[in-house]
Amino acid sequence: MGSIEKDLILVIEDEIDLREIISRSLRREGYEVMSSDRGDDGLLLAREQQPDLIVLDLMLPGLNGTEVCRSLRRDSQVPILMVTALGGESDRVAGLEIGADDYLAKPFGMRELLARIRALLRRSQVERRTFPDDFTSADEKGFVINNDRHEILLAGKPLLLKPREYALLKFFLENPGQVFSRQQLLDSVWDTNFRSDVRTVDVHVRWLRQKVEENSEDPQRICTIRGSGYLFRQ
Ligand code: CA
Repeated sequence: MGSIEKDLILVIEDEIDLREIISRSLRREGYEVMSSDRGDDGLLLAREQQPDLIVLDLMLPGLNGTEVCRSLRRDSQVPILMVTALGGESDRVAGLEIGADDYLAKPFGMRELLARIRALLRRSQVERRTFPDDFTSADEKGFVINNDRHEILLAGKPLLLKPREYALLKFFLENPGQVFSRQQLLDSVWDTNFRSDVRTVDVHVRWLRQKVEENSEDPQRICTIRGSGYLFRQ
């Protein structure tokens, strides 16, 4: 661990065996761990303790994982890894749509869980960096990519982008005027070990449009090319 302060992970899971196995594995990796066996208590803990990441079960007593996730997303960007017994693609997409950052279907191995957690924490550390107050080169209307800070400015203002939104928008900006299929975007922008389906791309495009389009219902920048994919117009 590079830093003295340990990352705090909150595990909200009602299956006692799984909760303990996850908690133990995380502690062994050097994380600080808190846990809860209920959705409502877990939500309170998250608000009080401000963990660095949350492992969130879907089916929970008190408040289910979907509700916990929605509620957290109203005011928090904390990385959320959803774990659930429901492993169908539509469930996975639903999890991402309500604001989870990643999704793991039960049963899963601790190694995979730890790898996902490390990846999410790495990305959120980039995200947590404060905004610069010294940028001057942004032109009035366009986008400016700041590679060092993993930021994109639009009309001089930094966009609040999650790590994958940043990667996707950067890819579009670097490849304007070209049509990319959803699969090509998945291959180019997402981690290769991220088991995902092409609808994940649609979800992220929708989020990006809300941030970069004047009217996300009538996108002028990230255009849908029916039957082909997406094209970015500068
Ligand atoms: Ca459960």
